[in-house]
Amino acid sequence: MNTLSRRHLLRATSGAAVGIFSLPALAAAVQSATSPYRRPKLKITDVRTAQVRAHGLQVHVRVYTDQGLFGHGEATDSAVGAPPLIDGFRRFLIGQDPLNIDLLTERIRTMGIFAGAQGGQYVTAITGVEIALWDLAGKALGLPVYQLLGGKMRDRIRLYCDAQTEDPDDPNAREKAEQVKSMGFTAVKIDVDDLRDPNRWDPVNTTASNAEIDRMVRKVAFARELFPSRVDLAVDMHGRYDMTTGKRMAKEVEPFKLLYLEEPVPAENVDAMRDIRESTSTPICCGENLFLRHGFRTVLEKRAADIIMPDIQKCGGLLESRKIADMAHTYYVPVAPHCVVSPIGTMASCHVCAAIPNFLVLEWHWIPRLPLWRSFVKEGEIIDKGFITLPDRPGIGVEMDEEAARKAQVPNTPWFEPTRS
Ligand code: MG
Repeated sequence: MNTLSRRHLLRATSGAAVGIFSLPALAAAVQSATSPYRRPKLKITDVRTAQVRAHGLQVHVRVYTDQGLFGHGEATDSAVGAPPLIDGFRRFLIGQDPLNIDLLTERIRTMGIFAGAQGGQYVTAITGVEIALWDLAGKALGLPVYQLLGGKMRDRIRLYCDAQTEDPDDPNAREKAEQVKSMGFTAVKIDVDDLRDPNRWDPVNTTASNAEIDRMVRKVAFARELFPSRVDLAVDMHGRYDMTTGKRMAKEVEPFKLLYLEEPVPAENVDAMRDIRESTSTPICCGENLFLRHGFRTVLEKRAADIIMPDIQKCGGLLESRKIADMAHTYYVPVAPHCVVSPIGTMASCHVCAAIPNFLVLEWHWIPRLPLWRSFVKEGEIIDKGFITLPDRPGIGVEMDEEAARKAQVPNTPWFEPTRS
């Protein structure tokens, strides 16, 4: 609170007037301190991108304004192809008020309905811009993003580590598990699918042989042995198998009491996912490749998943993720977002996770690239004992260290340089 507003408040609440009769004066003082006339007047002047390859491709987006402020967002996975799409959005965005975030993203989306705005790369490109607009709005208004999303329900966000410790034949698996444990994580995830499994009968057919099922179950048992039972264990099949295999695996891993089994079949056929869910006591999670509320609507309506996992840097942005989570909450379904991005996108995800009631756990996937993770933002390491504490700084609350981040720049791509169009 600035000096002026504090003086107004003191005047309004001082002396005998304090009590219920002082409320109108107090309200007037608050109004004068936060008058809409004090709202920053901003216009978008440019939108620029930079590309980083860490866990796959990440597209970083900056939205610039006439007041010198800029917002920074990050998009991933289906961000391939995002830079030229964002360049197209740029022509519409220049001159607009960046604080009308939902209006701008809805306009871009509805303008693109014949260009693929129902999902995929188009929506992920919007996502990068949307997140940059939230960072910008927070900076302009002097508030952390979680405050703009409704306030925080929790101060810190629980992470799970994509541990990559599942292979019993990996001589370094135990050492890797010790590292994960020493970092204090209370949840881990392993991958069990393996397209190179020599026990596969066929490189295309997606029915796992008995030997493949045995190998997958052995990985789960090994991970359960590496981590204490109080550490939650999630298992990912990456949607690579058919219904028969999905049902068999869900049944086979029931004794391990998993946090969840992720995408035993692809998420596109909601009825197939529901049939697996109904066949087992193992919780089923899906949704890292679904977009917008529309992508999650039938999953929820048909009770196809126990847990959903929108990728906040991909599925439509921070507010869209909040809307997806709110929709899930009406079905009592928790949210465990997919997240493979840098500390900037991860912290952006944390603001959503802080603001929703049904947050379960957030992914962290950078253990093979710790030096880059720890140097990527000026704030340094943001994880403490498996949790991220929300910063009170305006916007997302972390700033890219460009010298460190450029070490992972995709060669021959622009680095927040102006386009000629
Ligand atoms: Mg996955």
